[in-house]
Amino acid sequence: MAQSVEIVTIGDELLLGTTVDTNAVFLARALGEIGVPIARRATVADNEHDIADAVNQALERTGGVITTGGLGPTADDLTRPVLARLFGRELREDPAIVAALHALWASRGRGGALPPSNLQQALVPEGAEVLANGQGTAPGLRLTDDQGRWVIMLPGVPRELRHMTATHIVPWLTERGSGTVLRSRNVRTTSIAESALAEKLGPLKREVEGLPLAYLPGHDGVDLRVTARGYPAAEAARRLDAAVAQIRDAVGTYAYATDGVSMPAVVLDMCLAHGDTIAVAESCTGGLLGARLTEVPGSSRVVLGGVIAYANIVKEQELGVAADDIEMHGAVSEPVAVQMARGVRGMTGATIGVGITGVAGPDGGTPDKPVGTVWIAIDVRGEVTTNRAIYIGDRAEVRHRATQVAMDLIRRALLGMAT
Ligand code: AMP
Ligand code: MG
Repeated sequence: MAQSVEIVTIGDELLLGTTVDTNAVFLARALGEIGVPIARRATVADNEHDIADAVNQALERTGGVITTGGLGPTADDLTRPVLARLFGRELREDPAIVAALHALWASRGRGGALPPSNLQQALVPEGAEVLANGQGTAPGLRLTDDQGRWVIMLPGVPRELRHMTATHIVPWLTERGSGTVLRSRNVRTTSIAESALAEKLGPLKREVEGLPLAYLPGHDGVDLRVTARGYPAAEAARRLDAAVAQIRDAVGTYAYATDGVSMPAVVLDMCLAHGDTIAVAESCTGGLLGARLTEVPGSSRVVLGGVIAYANIVKEQELGVAADDIEMHGAVSEPVAVQMARGVRGMTGATIGVGITGVAGPDGGTPDKPVGTVWIAIDVRGEVTTNRAIYIGDRAEVRHRATQVAMDLIRRALLGMAT
Protein backbone atom coordinates (compact mmCIF):
# COMPACT_ATOMS: atom_id res chain seq x y z
CA MET A 1 0.00 0.00 0.00
CA ALA A 2 1.27 3.43 -0.88
CA GLN A 3 2.10 5.91 1.84
CA SER A 4 -0.96 7.95 2.67
CA VAL A 5 -0.78 11.72 2.68
CA GLU A 6 -2.71 14.53 4.29
CA ILE A 7 -3.83 17.76 2.71
CA VAL A 8 -3.89 21.12 4.46
CA THR A 9 -5.58 23.93 2.56
CA ILE A 10 -4.80 27.38 3.89
CA GLY A 11 -6.86 30.55 3.64
CA ASP A 12 -9.40 32.57 5.63
CA GLU A 13 -11.66 32.63 2.56
CA LEU A 14 -12.01 28.85 2.68
CA LEU A 15 -13.21 28.88 6.28
CA LEU A 16 -15.58 31.77 5.59
CA GLY A 17 -17.04 29.82 2.70
CA THR A 18 -16.52 32.65 0.24
CA THR A 19 -14.15 30.44 -1.77
CA VAL A 20 -14.97 26.79 -2.33
CA ASP A 21 -12.04 24.50 -1.56
CA THR A 22 -11.67 23.08 -5.05
CA ASN A 23 -7.95 22.47 -4.50
CA ALA A 24 -8.60 19.74 -1.95
CA VAL A 25 -11.06 18.05 -4.28
CA PHE A 26 -8.71 18.31 -7.24
CA LEU A 27 -5.79 16.85 -5.27
CA ALA A 28 -7.95 14.04 -3.92
CA ARG A 29 -8.93 13.00 -7.43
CA ALA A 30 -5.45 13.33 -8.87
CA LEU A 31 -3.90 11.29 -6.06
CA GLY A 32 -6.70 8.75 -6.22
CA GLU A 33 -5.84 8.15 -9.87
CA ILE A 34 -2.36 7.04 -8.87
CA GLY A 35 -3.51 5.09 -5.82
CA VAL A 36 -2.19 7.42 -3.15
CA PRO A 37 -4.70 7.44 -0.32
CA ILE A 38 -5.57 10.70 1.39
CA ALA A 39 -5.83 9.96 5.07
CA ARG A 40 -7.22 13.31 6.16
CA ARG A 41 -7.92 16.84 5.02
CA ALA A 42 -7.76 20.01 7.09
CA THR A 43 -8.48 23.64 6.32
CA VAL A 44 -6.92 26.41 8.39
CA ALA A 45 -6.91 30.20 8.54
CA ASP A 46 -4.05 32.46 7.45
CA ASN A 47 -2.67 32.27 10.94
CA GLU A 48 0.78 31.16 12.09
CA HIS A 49 -0.27 28.94 14.93
CA ASP A 50 -3.01 27.15 13.04
CA ILE A 51 -0.84 26.42 10.00
CA ALA A 52 2.04 25.09 12.11
CA ASP A 53 -0.28 23.03 14.26
CA ALA A 54 -2.15 21.42 11.36
CA VAL A 55 1.00 20.55 9.41
CA ASN A 56 2.82 19.28 12.49
CA GLN A 57 -0.02 16.95 13.47
CA ALA A 58 -0.38 15.69 9.92
CA LEU A 59 3.36 15.00 9.71
CA GLU A 60 3.23 13.00 12.91
CA ARG A 61 0.37 10.88 11.61
CA THR A 62 1.38 10.21 8.01
CA GLY A 63 4.78 11.80 7.35
CA GLY A 64 3.60 13.33 4.07
CA VAL A 65 1.69 16.58 3.72
CA ILE A 66 0.63 18.76 0.81
CA THR A 67 -0.39 22.34 1.57
CA THR A 68 -2.05 24.83 -0.76
CA GLY A 69 -2.25 28.59 -0.34
CA GLY A 70 -0.38 31.25 1.54
CA LEU A 71 2.60 31.45 -0.83
CA GLY A 72 1.65 34.82 -2.33
CA PRO A 73 3.40 38.17 -1.90
CA THR A 74 1.12 39.73 0.74
CA ALA A 75 1.20 39.93 4.53
CA ASP A 76 -1.39 37.17 4.93
CA ASP A 77 0.81 34.69 3.06
CA LEU A 78 2.51 32.85 5.91
CA THR A 79 3.04 29.28 4.76
CA ARG A 80 6.69 29.70 3.78
CA PRO A 81 8.04 31.27 7.02
CA VAL A 82 5.84 29.14 9.27
CA LEU A 83 6.96 25.86 7.75
CA ALA A 84 10.60 26.97 7.58
CA ARG A 85 10.41 27.53 11.33
CA LEU A 86 8.64 24.20 11.88
CA PHE A 87 11.50 22.43 10.11
CA GLY A 88 14.12 24.62 11.82
CA ARG A 89 15.42 26.13 8.60
CA GLU A 90 16.55 29.69 7.77
CA LEU A 91 14.95 31.49 4.82
CA ARG A 92 17.39 32.58 2.14
CA GLU A 93 16.72 34.62 -0.97
CA ASP A 94 17.23 32.48 -4.07
CA PRO A 95 18.86 34.57 -6.84
CA ALA A 96 17.43 32.37 -9.59
CA ILE A 97 13.88 32.98 -8.32
CA VAL A 98 14.57 36.72 -7.99
CA ALA A 99 15.68 36.81 -11.62
CA ALA A 100 12.66 34.78 -12.73
CA LEU A 101 10.29 37.10 -10.84
CA HIS A 102 11.79 40.17 -12.53
CA ALA A 103 11.56 38.50 -15.93
CA LEU A 104 7.95 37.41 -15.38
CA TRP A 105 6.97 40.91 -14.22
CA ALA A 106 8.54 42.50 -17.29
CA SER A 107 7.00 39.95 -19.65
CA ARG A 108 3.52 40.77 -18.41
CA GLY A 109 4.00 44.36 -19.51
CA ARG A 110 2.75 45.84 -16.25
CA GLY A 111 5.38 48.57 -16.33
CA GLY A 112 7.50 49.88 -13.47
CA ALA A 113 9.69 47.80 -11.22
CA LEU A 114 8.71 44.59 -9.47
CA PRO A 115 7.05 45.55 -6.15
CA PRO A 116 9.48 44.60 -3.35
CA SER A 117 6.84 42.51 -1.58
CA ASN A 118 7.05 40.03 -4.46
CA LEU A 119 10.56 39.16 -3.34
CA GLN A 120 9.00 37.26 -0.43
CA GLN A 121 8.32 34.62 -3.02
CA ALA A 122 12.04 34.23 -3.65
CA LEU A 123 12.68 33.16 -0.05
CA VAL A 124 13.53 29.49 0.19
CA PRO A 125 14.02 27.51 3.40
CA GLU A 126 17.52 26.02 3.59
CA GLY A 127 17.62 22.61 1.98
CA ALA A 128 14.20 22.95 0.32
CA GLU A 129 13.67 21.93 -3.27
CA VAL A 130 12.10 24.59 -5.47
CA LEU A 131 9.23 23.42 -7.67
CA ALA A 132 8.80 25.63 -10.72
CA ASN A 133 5.33 27.14 -11.01
CA GLY A 134 4.95 27.37 -14.79
CA GLN A 135 1.75 29.42 -14.54
CA GLY A 136 2.45 32.20 -12.04
CA THR A 137 4.99 33.84 -9.78
CA ALA A 138 5.07 31.72 -6.63
CA PRO A 139 7.17 28.57 -6.91
CA GLY A 140 6.27 25.56 -4.81
CA LEU A 141 8.61 24.13 -2.20
CA ARG A 142 9.40 20.70 -0.86
CA LEU A 143 10.95 20.27 2.59
CA THR A 144 12.11 16.92 3.89
CA ASP A 145 13.35 16.29 7.44
CA ASP A 146 15.99 13.84 8.64
CA GLN A 147 13.35 11.16 9.22
CA GLY A 148 12.20 11.38 5.61
CA ARG A 149 8.98 13.19 6.48
CA TRP A 150 8.05 15.73 3.83
CA VAL A 151 5.79 18.66 3.16
CA ILE A 152 5.09 20.09 -0.26
CA MET A 153 3.82 23.68 -0.41
CA LEU A 154 1.75 24.62 -3.44
CA PRO A 155 0.18 27.96 -4.36
CA GLY A 156 -3.54 28.48 -3.79
CA VAL A 157 -4.51 29.72 -7.26
CA PRO A 158 -6.38 26.72 -8.70
CA ARG A 159 -4.92 27.00 -12.20
CA GLU A 160 -1.37 27.01 -10.82
CA LEU A 161 -2.20 24.18 -8.44
CA ARG A 162 -3.58 22.01 -11.23
CA HIS A 163 -0.55 22.60 -13.39
CA MET A 164 1.90 21.84 -10.59
CA THR A 165 0.01 18.74 -9.54
CA ALA A 166 0.54 17.38 -13.03
CA THR A 167 4.17 18.50 -13.38
CA HIS A 168 5.49 17.81 -9.86
CA ILE A 169 3.15 15.97 -7.52
CA VAL A 170 1.89 13.13 -9.68
CA PRO A 171 5.30 12.18 -11.14
CA TRP A 172 7.04 12.38 -7.78
CA LEU A 173 4.44 10.36 -5.89
CA THR A 174 4.16 7.83 -8.71
CA GLU A 175 7.89 7.23 -8.55
CA ARG A 176 7.70 6.63 -4.79
CA GLY A 177 4.46 4.71 -5.06
CA SER A 178 3.60 1.05 -4.96
CA GLY A 179 2.30 0.66 -8.53
CA THR A 180 -1.28 0.38 -7.34
CA VAL A 181 -4.31 2.47 -8.25
CA LEU A 182 -7.49 3.70 -6.66
CA ARG A 183 -10.46 3.37 -9.03
CA SER A 184 -14.24 3.43 -8.66
CA ARG A 185 -17.18 2.41 -10.78
CA ASN A 186 -20.87 3.18 -10.35
CA VAL A 187 -24.06 1.33 -11.04
CA ARG A 188 -26.85 3.91 -11.28
CA THR A 189 -30.30 2.97 -10.04
CA THR A 190 -33.58 4.83 -9.82
CA SER A 191 -37.10 4.39 -8.42
CA ILE A 192 -35.87 2.21 -5.57
CA ALA A 193 -34.88 3.06 -1.99
CA GLU A 194 -31.45 2.33 -0.50
CA SER A 195 -32.88 -0.17 1.94
CA ALA A 196 -34.69 -2.06 -0.82
CA LEU A 197 -31.48 -2.13 -2.86
CA ALA A 198 -29.60 -3.64 0.08
CA GLU A 199 -32.27 -6.36 0.30
CA LYS A 200 -31.89 -7.13 -3.38
CA LEU A 201 -28.12 -7.24 -3.10
CA GLY A 202 -28.30 -9.76 -0.24
CA PRO A 203 -24.79 -11.08 0.43
CA LEU A 204 -23.30 -8.42 -1.87
CA LYS A 205 -24.73 -5.54 0.12
CA ARG A 206 -21.43 -4.50 1.74
CA GLU A 207 -18.74 -5.98 -0.43
CA VAL A 208 -18.58 -7.21 -4.03
CA GLU A 209 -15.50 -9.04 -5.40
CA GLY A 210 -13.73 -7.99 -2.22
CA LEU A 211 -14.46 -4.31 -2.96
CA PRO A 212 -16.41 -2.12 -0.56
CA LEU A 213 -19.82 -0.94 -1.76
CA ALA A 214 -21.11 2.58 -1.06
CA TYR A 215 -24.70 3.79 -1.42
CA LEU A 216 -24.90 7.34 -2.79
CA PRO A 217 -28.48 8.64 -2.87
CA GLY A 218 -29.19 11.75 -4.94
CA HIS A 219 -31.95 13.38 -7.01
CA ASP A 220 -31.43 10.86 -9.81
CA GLY A 221 -31.77 7.83 -7.55
CA VAL A 222 -29.16 5.79 -5.71
CA ASP A 223 -25.72 5.25 -7.22
CA LEU A 224 -23.97 2.07 -6.07
CA ARG A 225 -20.24 2.68 -6.06
CA VAL A 226 -17.54 0.04 -5.78
CA THR A 227 -13.96 1.10 -5.12
CA ALA A 228 -10.76 -0.83 -5.75
CA ARG A 229 -7.89 0.45 -3.67
CA GLY A 230 -4.35 -0.86 -3.53
CA TYR A 231 -4.49 -3.17 -6.57
CA PRO A 232 -2.40 -2.98 -9.74
CA ALA A 233 -4.37 -1.34 -12.55
CA ALA A 234 -5.26 -4.56 -14.40
CA GLU A 235 -6.45 -6.37 -11.27
CA ALA A 236 -8.48 -3.33 -10.21
CA ALA A 237 -10.16 -3.24 -13.63
CA ARG A 238 -10.93 -6.97 -13.52
CA ARG A 239 -12.50 -6.77 -10.05
CA LEU A 240 -14.47 -3.61 -10.87
CA ASP A 241 -15.89 -5.08 -14.08
CA ALA A 242 -16.88 -8.28 -12.28
CA ALA A 243 -18.42 -6.30 -9.41
CA VAL A 244 -20.45 -4.11 -11.77
CA ALA A 245 -21.78 -7.19 -13.57
CA GLN A 246 -22.80 -8.83 -10.30
CA ILE A 247 -24.50 -5.70 -9.00
CA ARG A 248 -26.41 -5.18 -12.25
CA ASP A 249 -27.50 -8.77 -12.07
CA ALA A 250 -28.75 -8.43 -8.50
CA VAL A 251 -30.67 -5.17 -8.94
CA GLY A 252 -32.09 -6.03 -12.35
CA THR A 253 -34.03 -3.35 -14.21
CA TYR A 254 -33.60 -0.80 -11.41
CA ALA A 255 -30.11 -0.25 -12.83
CA TYR A 256 -30.32 2.14 -15.75
CA ALA A 257 -26.66 2.97 -16.43
CA THR A 258 -23.10 2.74 -15.20
CA ASP A 259 -20.57 5.41 -14.26
CA GLY A 260 -21.25 8.91 -15.58
CA VAL A 261 -24.03 8.02 -18.02
CA SER A 262 -27.23 10.00 -17.43
CA MET A 263 -30.85 8.90 -17.67
CA PRO A 264 -31.56 11.21 -20.63
CA ALA A 265 -28.64 9.67 -22.53
CA VAL A 266 -29.95 6.16 -21.81
CA VAL A 267 -33.48 7.02 -22.93
CA LEU A 268 -32.30 8.75 -26.08
CA ASP A 269 -30.13 5.77 -27.01
CA MET A 270 -33.03 3.39 -26.53
CA CYS A 271 -35.33 5.59 -28.60
CA LEU A 272 -32.76 5.68 -31.39
CA ALA A 273 -32.46 1.90 -31.30
CA HIS A 274 -36.25 1.50 -31.43
CA GLY A 275 -36.87 4.28 -33.95
CA ASP A 276 -38.92 6.24 -31.43
CA THR A 277 -39.40 9.99 -31.09
CA ILE A 278 -40.49 11.94 -28.00
CA ALA A 279 -42.76 14.93 -27.38
CA VAL A 280 -43.39 16.36 -23.92
CA ALA A 281 -46.37 18.14 -22.32
CA GLU A 282 -45.19 19.63 -19.06
CA SER A 283 -47.10 21.45 -16.38
CA CYS A 284 -45.33 21.44 -12.98
CA THR A 285 -41.92 20.69 -14.52
CA GLY A 286 -42.20 23.73 -16.81
CA GLY A 287 -39.98 22.36 -19.57
CA LEU A 288 -37.41 20.67 -17.35
CA LEU A 289 -37.93 17.29 -18.98
CA GLY A 290 -37.42 18.83 -22.40
CA ALA A 291 -34.34 20.65 -21.13
CA ARG A 292 -32.82 17.50 -19.64
CA LEU A 293 -33.43 15.46 -22.77
CA THR A 294 -32.03 18.14 -25.07
CA GLU A 295 -28.91 18.57 -22.93
CA VAL A 296 -27.60 15.43 -24.61
CA PRO A 297 -25.84 16.07 -27.92
CA GLY A 298 -27.68 14.43 -30.80
CA SER A 299 -31.07 14.63 -29.05
CA SER A 300 -32.58 16.30 -32.13
CA ARG A 301 -32.84 12.88 -33.71
CA VAL A 302 -35.34 11.86 -30.99
CA VAL A 303 -36.91 14.92 -29.35
CA LEU A 304 -39.53 16.62 -31.51
CA GLY A 305 -40.66 19.29 -29.05
CA GLY A 306 -43.42 19.95 -26.60
CA VAL A 307 -45.76 22.28 -24.80
CA ILE A 308 -45.33 23.95 -21.45
CA ALA A 309 -48.96 23.61 -20.42
CA TYR A 310 -48.90 25.46 -17.14
CA ALA A 311 -52.34 27.10 -17.26
CA ASN A 312 -55.51 25.07 -17.77
CA ILE A 313 -56.34 27.06 -20.87
CA VAL A 314 -53.14 25.82 -22.52
CA LYS A 315 -53.88 22.25 -21.50
CA GLU A 316 -57.31 22.59 -23.09
CA GLN A 317 -56.57 24.62 -26.19
CA GLU A 318 -53.15 23.27 -27.19
CA LEU A 319 -53.39 19.70 -25.99
CA GLY A 320 -57.13 19.04 -26.12
CA VAL A 321 -57.53 18.18 -22.45
CA ALA A 322 -61.27 18.10 -21.66
CA ALA A 323 -62.34 21.03 -19.47
CA ASP A 324 -64.82 18.70 -17.79
CA ASP A 325 -62.03 16.40 -16.64
CA ILE A 326 -60.08 19.32 -15.20
CA GLU A 327 -63.29 20.45 -13.48
CA MET A 328 -64.14 16.99 -12.15
CA HIS A 329 -60.72 15.54 -11.28
CA GLY A 330 -58.54 18.65 -10.97
CA ALA A 331 -55.53 19.62 -13.09
CA VAL A 332 -53.33 17.23 -11.11
CA SER A 333 -55.03 13.98 -11.98
CA GLU A 334 -54.62 10.84 -14.01
CA PRO A 335 -57.07 11.71 -16.80
CA VAL A 336 -55.41 15.09 -17.32
CA ALA A 337 -51.90 13.57 -17.46
CA VAL A 338 -53.13 10.97 -19.95
CA GLN A 339 -54.77 13.56 -22.18
CA MET A 340 -51.64 15.71 -22.08
CA ALA A 341 -49.50 12.77 -23.21
CA ARG A 342 -51.94 11.79 -25.97
CA GLY A 343 -52.48 15.39 -27.00
CA VAL A 344 -48.82 16.21 -27.47
CA ARG A 345 -48.23 12.96 -29.32
CA GLY A 346 -51.07 13.72 -31.70
CA MET A 347 -49.96 17.28 -32.15
CA THR A 348 -46.35 16.40 -33.06
CA GLY A 349 -46.62 12.94 -34.55
CA ALA A 350 -44.10 11.60 -32.02
CA THR A 351 -44.25 7.90 -31.19
CA ILE A 352 -43.95 8.71 -27.47
CA GLY A 353 -45.92 11.42 -25.67
CA VAL A 354 -45.28 12.39 -22.05
CA GLY A 355 -47.67 14.30 -19.78
CA ILE A 356 -46.61 15.61 -16.38
CA THR A 357 -48.88 17.46 -13.97
CA GLY A 358 -48.28 17.94 -10.27
CA VAL A 359 -47.91 20.15 -7.22
CA ALA A 360 -44.26 21.23 -7.02
CA GLY A 361 -44.83 23.40 -3.94
CA PRO A 362 -44.10 25.01 -1.62
CA ASP A 363 -47.79 26.08 -1.77
CA GLY A 364 -50.79 24.60 -3.46
CA GLY A 365 -51.05 21.30 -1.59
CA THR A 366 -54.36 19.91 -0.36
CA PRO A 367 -55.06 16.95 1.96
CA ASP A 368 -55.67 14.56 -0.93
CA LYS A 369 -53.02 16.14 -3.21
CA PRO A 370 -50.19 17.17 -0.90
CA VAL A 371 -47.15 19.11 -2.15
CA GLY A 372 -45.01 16.72 -4.18
CA THR A 373 -47.94 14.88 -5.76
CA VAL A 374 -47.24 14.32 -9.45
CA TRP A 375 -49.14 12.39 -12.10
CA ILE A 376 -47.13 11.24 -15.09
CA ALA A 377 -48.52 9.54 -18.19
CA ILE A 378 -46.62 8.14 -21.12
CA ASP A 379 -48.21 7.15 -24.37
CA VAL A 380 -45.91 4.81 -26.28
CA ARG A 381 -47.43 4.20 -29.71
CA GLY A 382 -50.90 4.29 -28.21
CA GLU A 383 -50.16 2.23 -25.13
CA VAL A 384 -50.59 4.38 -22.04
CA THR A 385 -48.87 3.92 -18.67
CA THR A 386 -49.52 6.18 -15.70
CA ASN A 387 -47.72 6.79 -12.45
CA ARG A 388 -48.61 8.77 -9.36
CA ALA A 389 -46.08 9.54 -6.68
CA ILE A 390 -45.57 11.97 -3.84
CA TYR A 391 -42.00 13.21 -4.05
CA ILE A 392 -40.12 14.38 -0.99
CA GLY A 393 -38.06 17.54 -1.15
CA ASP A 394 -38.23 21.17 -2.13
CA ARG A 395 -39.61 22.52 -5.39
CA ALA A 396 -36.41 21.87 -7.33
CA GLU A 397 -36.14 18.29 -6.08
CA VAL A 398 -39.79 17.48 -6.79
CA ARG A 399 -39.44 18.76 -10.33
CA HIS A 400 -36.17 16.94 -10.95
CA ARG A 401 -37.40 13.65 -9.50
CA ALA A 402 -40.56 13.81 -11.59
CA THR A 403 -38.57 14.16 -14.80
CA GLN A 404 -36.37 11.24 -13.74
CA VAL A 405 -39.42 9.04 -13.20
CA ALA A 406 -40.94 10.12 -16.52
CA MET A 407 -37.79 9.04 -18.32
CA ASP A 408 -37.64 5.83 -16.31
CA LEU A 409 -41.18 5.02 -17.43
CA ILE A 410 -40.13 5.44 -21.06
CA ARG A 411 -37.07 3.29 -20.43
CA ARG A 412 -39.14 0.55 -18.84
CA ALA A 413 -41.73 0.65 -21.59
CA LEU A 414 -39.04 0.27 -24.25
CA LEU A 415 -37.21 -2.48 -22.29
CA GLY A 416 -40.25 -4.65 -22.75
CA MET A 417 -40.31 -4.17 -26.51
CA ALA A 418 -38.21 -5.77 -29.21
CA THR A 419 -35.91 -3.44 -31.11
P1 AMP B 1 -3.02 32.25 -2.01
O1 AMP B 1 -2.01 31.33 -2.64
O2 AMP B 1 -3.32 31.87 -0.60
O3 AMP B 1 -2.63 33.69 -2.15
O4 AMP B 1 -4.37 32.06 -2.80
C1 AMP B 1 -4.62 32.74 -4.01
C2 AMP B 1 -6.06 32.58 -4.43
O5 AMP B 1 -6.32 31.23 -4.75
C3 AMP B 1 -7.08 32.93 -3.35
O6 AMP B 1 -7.49 34.24 -3.40
C4 AMP B 1 -8.23 32.04 -3.68
O7 AMP B 1 -9.08 32.71 -4.59
C5 AMP B 1 -7.61 30.87 -4.36
N1 AMP B 1 -7.52 29.71 -3.48
C6 AMP B 1 -6.70 29.56 -2.41
N2 AMP B 1 -6.86 28.36 -1.84
C7 AMP B 1 -7.82 27.72 -2.55
C8 AMP B 1 -8.45 26.44 -2.46
N3 AMP B 1 -8.09 25.56 -1.49
N4 AMP B 1 -9.40 26.12 -3.35
C9 AMP B 1 -9.75 27.00 -4.32
N5 AMP B 1 -9.20 28.21 -4.46
C10 AMP B 1 -8.26 28.59 -3.59
MG1 MG C 1 -4.32 33.11 0.76
